[in-house]
Amino acid sequence: MESFFTFPDRALKYDCPSCGSFCCKGKGLALEASKEVVRFARLEPRMAALVYPADHRFAHILDVSDGCWMLQPDGLCAVETGHGYAAKPHTCRLFPFNRIFQVGEVRVVDFNSKICPLQDASEARDGQSWESLQKQIDGEGPSFFGRGSVPLPEGAREQDWARQERWVRDSIDAHLGEPDYAAFAALQEEGSLALLRGGALPEPHAPAVLERAAYLRQVLQSWRIHHGVEGDPRLETAARLAARQASLLTCSWRLYLLLSSEAAPYPGVVRMLPRHLLAAAHLIELSHLARKIAPGLRAATETFQGAAPLIGLLAVFPQRARLKTPLELGVALEVQPALVALSRLLLEGGRTLAEAAEQSLSPFPVHLRSMALTALAFGNAELLVE
Ligand code: SF4
Ligand code: SF4
Repeated sequence: MESFFTFPDRALKYDCPSCGSFCCKGKGLALEASKEVVRFARLEPRMAALVYPADHRFAHILDVSDGCWMLQPDGLCAVETGHGYAAKPHTCRLFPFNRIFQVGEVRVVDFNSKICPLQDASEARDGQSWESLQKQIDGEGPSFFGRGSVPLPEGAREQDWARQERWVRDSIDAHLGEPDYAAFAALQEEGSLALLRGGALPEPHAPAVLERAAYLRQVLQSWRIHHGVEGDPRLETAARLAARQASLLTCSWRLYLLLSSEAAPYPGVVRMLPRHLLAAAHLIELSHLARKIAPGLRAATETFQGAAPLIGLLAVFPQRARLKTPLELGVALEVQPALVALSRLLLEGGRTLAEAAEQSLSPFPVHLRSMALTALAFGNAELLVE
């Protein structure tokens, strides 16, 4: 079976000595439930009582917040040093490229950028190669499929999802030097339209793509104005860094959304994905401007996953929006006037979300504007979007 890697060849790397064994501390350890778990318990029978079943396929070991039982003080794995690499649990052998699952006829090989501080190796191209990872996977034998089989969203097979996602993956390199994420988001939007029409997938930077990118840049600018960073002299650099990180993670992020259990039918999800990714890139540029330590790919993924409701709201910024019922004010007292003002305009309807946010929130300072919109995103209000 052919593997579909969700990252460009050699574009991501990791450095265990500098990381402090992050993946071996407090992240749990899932062991295959039939054989692997017994092998592991045999290595340390005094702790075997703390192995418990997670489901029929996996077992967990308890008590790993301060480090896995097998983590040595020097940061090395005692299973590997004492018994050899092959004796390590499956998940540890392949980590962080261990998000492996079968989707239809395709074996998806993804990575864990939420735990592992992966690094951008796209310039030096000295990162994880597809070839060596494929050899490792082949060495695991046919029984190993990580997360097993994952169902496709409705309509994905008919629309040749794997071709589309490969095309997105193969377009990453062309977008690593962009000033922002707009051109890559535009390419993806044009691509999903081509898919729905049954036409050819566009080339990066084709005229129609650039025209769409110009529009998406206006949307991006409206978010920047809302968050008060449009005039920041460091914005250009932050935007470039954020766009590069979002581009590198694009294929992985798309599959994360496409294959989530709540995914809507494929044609709908694939259409909304590019603006979600553009919004994520915007939040990452805010992070580059705000944080005292430059955020890496792990922080980018945490933002993408953790801020999903806000990303979803920003994605519909240019659309007309109306609230069905007033917003609940379960926020800090100081934020409430801004939320009331936003709620009032959204209850009236007849405006885009961007217009409602600008008209209601512009009298407030940036931090209250930002918190009010985020409260709307994370609250349980019913927002109707046209
Ligand atoms: S989190 Fe990544 S870099 Fe850190 S020890 Fe684990 S595999 Fe190595
Ligand atoms: S078995 Fe080894 S590699 Fe796996 S979590 Fe424990 S110490 Fe880390």
